[in-house]
Amino acid sequence: MPEVEKSAGKKKNMIYMLARASRCHNCDKKLERGDLAKLEDRDNDREALCRSCAQLDAFVLVPKGKAQVTRLATKYSSISYVVLQWDETWKSYNRVGILAEPAAVERAEKETA
Ligand SMILES: [Zn+2]
Repeated sequence: MPEVEKSAGKKKNMIYMLARASRCHNCDKKLERGDLAKLEDRDNDREALCRSCAQLDAFVLVPKGKAQVTRLATKYSSISYVVLQWDETWKSYNRVGILAEPAAVERAEKETA
């Protein structure tokens, strides 16, 4: 088992919706455009990690249109991620939603129903 990296910064957890196909740096799985991946800066390179390797398989995507669910799911989930997508037109990242624990999303959806 690899040791869990302890990050010093209090950076927000970011997950990226890939704008082009890639490969997981860890397991070499093929990643398609639109797949979610964690990108990590190593030296001068960016490494992509697939959902399984980033341990995000169980997480549920809440699209950004659901503002209430997003807010509550972020609150209830012990860990959540902001999902970003690169916008070629604007040359910037757009927030497309969040990833949160399934139980948190379920609870949030019930409360906003
Ligand atoms: Zn992988």
